[in-house]
Amino acid sequence: MNGTTHIKYDHYHYPKNIDLRCPHCGSHAIAINENIPEEIVHFMDISPFEKVWTFKCTHCIKKYSVQWSEIQKMDLWYKIQLKNETVWSWNEQHLDLIIKCLKKEDTESHAWSFFKTYIHKNWLKKIKTKSDIQKLENLLMGKNNLI
Ligand SMILES: [Zn+2]
Repeated sequence: MNGTTHIKYDHYHYPKNIDLRCPHCGSHAIAINENIPEEIVHFMDISPFEKVWTFKCTHCIKKYSVQWSEIQKMDLWYKIQLKNETVWSWNEQHLDLIIKCLKKEDTESHAWSFFKTYIHKNWLKKIKTKSDIQKLENLLMGKNNLI
């Protein structure tokens, strides 16, 4: 395990799947940590899993291994400006959780409910109108790509 630089107690949660904007063609790409079992949607940095994701773009067919540091430089696919806030999510499920929280729906049994406490307070405070939530729902449905 490569944990030499991490600060004790500063445990970070990594998503298994990350939706990204392909840096080569701008289309929807995905990074998958294939060391993580299917049923695990996120994992902590104390886990023995390797922090290497497989980057795949279905449009330009690029496929290669990426480290966490490289992923951080890429653009997330689920990202939108609302009320001077950049609302972003790691992936579709994470965005679904954010939308449900903004709509004040029950998220107890949601696979991403752990991330509820990490939702930016400003988002919860500022994003309340039906039209703003609709924009997030459109983003989730892939309708933002038509603009
Ligand atoms: Zn591409």
